[in-house]
Amino acid sequence: MTKAPDSLLVVDDDSLNRDLMMRRLSRRGFNVSSAVGGEAALQWIKENQVDLVLLDIEMPETSGLDVLSAIRRDYTPAQLPVIMVTGKISSDDMVQALNIGANDYITKPIDFPVVLARIQTQLSRKHAEEALRESEERYALAALGANDGLWDWDLIKSKIYFSPRWKSMLGWEEHEIGEDPDEWFQRIHPDDVDRVRADIAGHLKELTPHYEDEYRMLHRNGNYLWMLGRGLAVRTNGGKAYRMAGSQTDITRGKVVDILTGLPNRVLFMDRLSRSFERARRGRGKAFALIFLDLDSFKLINDSFGHLMGDQLLVAIAGRLEATVRATDTVARFGRNHTIARIGGDEFTILLEDTTNAVDVTRIAERIAKELGEPFAIGSQEVFPTASIGIALYNPNYQSPEEILRDADTAMYSAKALGKGRYEIFDANMRANTIARLQLETELRRGIERKEFEVYYQALVSLETGRIWGFEALVRWKHSTRGLVSPNEFIPVAEETGLIVPLGQWVLKTSCQQARIWQARFESGPPLLISVNLSARHFLQPDLVQQCREVLDETQLSHSSLNLEVTESAMMPDPESAIDLMGQLKSLGIKLALDDFGTGYSSLSYLHRFPLDSLKIDRSFVSHMMEDDEIVRAIITLGRNLGLKVIAEGVETIDQIKKLKDLGCEYAQGYYFSVPVNAQEATDLLTAQNSRLTATLDGWSPAAKKAYALASVAEA
Ligand code: C2E
Ligand code: CA
Ligand code: CA
Repeated sequence: MTKAPDSLLVVDDDSLNRDLMMRRLSRRGFNVSSAVGGEAALQWIKENQVDLVLLDIEMPETSGLDVLSAIRRDYTPAQLPVIMVTGKISSDDMVQALNIGANDYITKPIDFPVVLARIQTQLSRKHAEEALRESEERYALAALGANDGLWDWDLIKSKIYFSPRWKSMLGWEEHEIGEDPDEWFQRIHPDDVDRVRADIAGHLKELTPHYEDEYRMLHRNGNYLWMLGRGLAVRTNGGKAYRMAGSQTDITRGKVVDILTGLPNRVLFMDRLSRSFERARRGRGKAFALIFLDLDSFKLINDSFGHLMGDQLLVAIAGRLEATVRATDTVARFGRNHTIARIGGDEFTILLEDTTNAVDVTRIAERIAKELGEPFAIGSQEVFPTASIGIALYNPNYQSPEEILRDADTAMYSAKALGKGRYEIFDANMRANTIARLQLETELRRGIERKEFEVYYQALVSLETGRIWGFEALVRWKHSTRGLVSPNEFIPVAEETGLIVPLGQWVLKTSCQQARIWQARFESGPPLLISVNLSARHFLQPDLVQQCREVLDETQLSHSSLNLEVTESAMMPDPESAIDLMGQLKSLGIKLALDDFGTGYSSLSYLHRFPLDSLKIDRSFVSHMMEDDEIVRAIITLGRNLGLKVIAEGVETIDQIKKLKDLGCEYAQGYYFSVPVNAQEATDLLTAQNSRLTATLDGWSPAAKKAYALASVAEA
């Protein structure tokens, strides 16, 4: 690095003196400028880099002494040496000048070698002091940590010294990065660079005591790293920054902000939570509340729309949460501090400080639930992502901030278990439930490994003929200690953990095998239908069609004997893909039923586009049908208009059967005919039906009794 020539400023009102001096000094390699009077000189110094001033003491407008005083207000003699030039030897003036802070003086007529010698003396002293100070400052910076990249910015020359570490952090060799400030700014992420520039400018203008920023820097390998930048300006006595130095620390690993949403991440959130916790515990701060929020169907949305859309949704939700919490009157009114963070994939937390009031917190939770209920436009789609919300309030029994987070999480789980899209405040019972649930999950995994499951079958009956039209396969868990466990208990956990997929595959295969056996044994009449429940998670498996094809090939079951029962929750997140997938299943010859019809958020506008074969009326409507048959009637009419078979679930009495027949319903299933039974008992049912027993009821086997019930249907 060759040293730039020193810049001299010659201030003299006499043009002859000025030009002479300029020419001679220029010839000696200085970079010389001149000013005619005091005002012009001060202006020049303000705007330009000057290393030394030759200042005429006698000037008409502003005297040399006044100019000197003005310079000394901004610069020490070491920072900007001034040599006074005087025509007469007046010791008074010179003494005064030296007192004000002149470094030296020369007299006219000018003896140039003397002038040169004095200039050199002043300049070399100035450079020596500069070098010393620079190395001291740099040393102080280096002490900040060898792991940090250091920079030292000469604002006058607009050059930055970047330390070797600064360069290697970004993957570059020492010689590959120069001294241009753009080496830095061009590597800052486009979303961050304006902020960084503004923050530096603010510090240079003394708006901030020091500079500090977090921003992303481009590494040679194309990735961005999160950096913490810190710096401090070095100023003249007058406050003008002429140099700024600082450090850059890689904080990517412990980065405190979630890159996707810009919200604090778990690390930062836990930090804030800990602080609130400590304050509350020492009695210095008020209590606080924690809200834990988990989206209910994010996996579905991600699986069906793709991750990019999923990301967009998370960003949109983050924005809506911010706006909602800030707009909540209790937050606005009391100026409460809050922190919203994303601490996991689709998990958000909100820390509400200075909150002792459960009412306030629930109001916020209600607001959030309502706001998230409004549709989000993601791409060309609208999605309605509900969330389950858990609330925990600080109390002095808590031993650590983690416990509060755990309890808010538990309350969130409880909200999910109670039907999702709602909030719950933590209470101690919840914890017991969570533990039980965790245990269930562990046991379920083991149960699947050990094949502790069995498929039960429930008859689907034609109300017209009273004959068994098919069976619905219903899985049972033969738990080693708890006996038969109801699917209502373990299917939701299996769904959540993904265990439903291997389990569902097993049910599909087992029941298709069984159907094939029955079809071979009971040949009279139309072939038996086997109806298999397909969970939403399973429905969205990309290889579902392939799975079905393989099972049908393997079991040799005719394709039209398989009926898949799907619920609206599987189809609504992305109706278009669902329609496409169902079309593929249909083209294999498989039949499709819409299960639990009427309980979901049925979108009637889509119903006619789903390539369905049947609708199953949910048991809740059938069980209230005798008091109020409006819904059942409407569903039957709807089904008929769409050309679908309608199956009534949960039929328990002969009166219900009569009513259903009156309303035009053709198929039913329920305890009236048969509870779900194992394969052997189901076989007995079919046998009894086919042997047409006419004996008296007494002495009949249970299967024969059921067969009788079946036969009586046709007459009802
Ligand atoms: P679902 O698909 O609505 O199945 C009908 C449920 O109603 C069955 O409960 C059945 O035993 C019950 N049921 C049938 N008739 C009557 C009646 O007359 N009265 C009463 N009170 N209940 C009746 P189950 O077997 O406990 O299954 C519960 C739910 O678990 C099923 O509801 C289904 O959603 C799910 N499930 C069962 N097996 C499977 C499976 O293999 N895969 C998947 N994905 N889900 C399954
Ligand atoms: Ca079903
Ligand atoms: Ca059902």
